[in-house]
Amino acid sequence: MGSVTYDNIAELVTNDPTQGDESFLGLRHDAAVVVDDGVVAWIGEAGQASPTDERVDLEGRCVLPAFVDSHTHLVFDGDRAEEFAARMAGQPYAAGGIRTTVAATRAASAEALLASATKRLTEARSQGTGLVEIKSGYGLDVATEVKMLQVAQQLTDETTFLGAHVVPTEFADDHRGYVDLVTGDMLDACAPYAKWIDVFVEDGAFDAEAAREILLAGQAKGLGLRVHANQLRPGPGVQLACDLGAASADHCTHLTDGDVAALADSGTVASLVPGADFSTRSPVYPDGRRLWDAGAAVALATDCNPGTSYTTSMPFVIALAVRECHLTPSEAVWAATSGAARSLRRDDAGRIAVDDPAALTVVDAKTHVHLAYRPAVPLAQVLGEPAP
Ligand SMILES: [Zn+2]
Repeated sequence: MGSVTYDNIAELVTNDPTQGDESFLGLRHDAAVVVDDGVVAWIGEAGQASPTDERVDLEGRCVLPAFVDSHTHLVFDGDRAEEFAARMAGQPYAAGGIRTTVAATRAASAEALLASATKRLTEARSQGTGLVEIKSGYGLDVATEVKMLQVAQQLTDETTFLGAHVVPTEFADDHRGYVDLVTGDMLDACAPYAKWIDVFVEDGAFDAEAAREILLAGQAKGLGLRVHANQLRPGPGVQLACDLGAASADHCTHLTDGDVAALADSGTVASLVPGADFSTRSPVYPDGRRLWDAGAAVALATDCNPGTSYTTSMPFVIALAVRECHLTPSEAVWAATSGAARSLRRDDAGRIAVDDPAALTVVDAKTHVHLAYRPAVPLAQVLGEPAP
């Protein structure tokens, strides 16, 4: 790979206050970064780097840590455009639409799933995303859950077993039997391919008691915990995530004061996915302002999935988080990088630091503010990736 100097960076977001100004973004102006064999080797003033094999003049653009998309359902087959159109015509969203994707995903080959997920991952990288998390959860039988995780594992280390997404049709009259499967044979088969376990805690999906049992079974197998919590109405998901020391409580659209306090007092990151609130035309967005002001760690993710948030664009999510969740542009950029890395308990991602793997995103603007200020304009791209 050799060494390369990225020079003439107007604004460098390091997310390390000791690296730059004392803000949480650790900003440096008129900076340069040297990458040697894929590792950040030097950070300093523009024009001051020692000679390297290659020099890229960024001509006054902004560089930030590549986005970390900490919540995706990138592996699936089929789409739900008709369901989306119906919802936009006034029909409400219910959790059961997932079953449409289950039927298509069960029928798809691993090769087909890998091809379509790779295409979506390429799409994400062309918009500045470095690291992604990918969940199973469209199999809901042992063979398909394993198939999904094996595909996901070819694309990322951050794989999540979500057998407890919804109860499949064949267990409609036997929820207990499905919880036994998820905590038994399905978990045994899936755990070797997963780093995390996740549960959808919601009316129509899993209640707190079943979710606790499933999460504890996963933890006993060495999996880290994540929870789909408080998406459609207030509920027990956030408190359960905090009680069990989960890395992340995702959605957090409907929170009580007690939920906000629990998140602020715990190591559980509040991962907001406002693309889902957008695509379901939710009357309420997660209140990022309230969470940030309470001292909770906030992350942003796409929740890319064919039913309720079919976007791979972290810049779109940043723009939504600023407009609808009332984060500032700086807070939203932090949440999409450092906050999301924290939700995956990854201290080697979401920041730019010497000796870390280099995952840099360039924004074709002089400041990160443009990510929210110029919505839907393709400004961000992982450095070193071909243009879309
Ligand atoms: Zn999700």
